[in-house]
Amino acid sequence: MEPHKQLLLANKAWVLEKLKTRPDFFESQAEGQTPDFLWIGCSDSRVPAEDITGTEPGELFVHRNIANMVVHTDFNMLSVLQYAVEVLKVKHVIVCGHYNCGGVKNAMTRHDFGLINKWLRHLKDVYRIYQDHIESIADPKARWDRLVEINVTEQVQNLAKTSIIQRAWDKEQRPTLHGWIYDLRTGYLKEFAEMPPGAKIDDIYRFQWE
Ligand SMILES: [Zn+2]
Repeated sequence: MEPHKQLLLANKAWVLEKLKTRPDFFESQAEGQTPDFLWIGCSDSRVPAEDITGTEPGELFVHRNIANMVVHTDFNMLSVLQYAVEVLKVKHVIVCGHYNCGGVKNAMTRHDFGLINKWLRHLKDVYRIYQDHIESIADPKARWDRLVEINVTEQVQNLAKTSIIQRAWDKEQRPTLHGWIYDLRTGYLKEFAEMPPGAKIDDIYRFQWE
């Protein structure tokens, strides 16, 4: 069997399995979505958001890109964020990084990757800010892990710098922002950073409204 046919076959089995426990599952799916969580994760195939959190369709609103970045000029990410916060009214936004992240590893090199350079540049900027700290770590593997951790914290900060999050914090005291790391060597998620509504950020990034 061609490999992609296997996916279609697995889909049929999945539908039957779902209907076995919940005959109305797909009818209820069609009625709409009310997820409590926005998940911003890495595109890496080893980090499937629903599987590792035991969530069902309808529970996570998901955006994924290389190295789970929150880039403030990325209209794709911003559109997802705005919809999740203003329309779906999610209570939590989770940025989830992971160890062994190829995006983070490649950003630490001086290789030319073509177009991807432009995306990895945002990671290099994070590296530069913490360069002394990162380079004080002798072991290259530990250095890689550390940049994964620092990057998640920075991306949570980047969320807090958006007017979308600040408005929701001021008006509705939500959402809470979380920075998690998935350890694909063990399967466990670790909580790394948390910013409750109204958390302190540098003044220069704080918007003032009339
Ligand atoms: Zn990754």
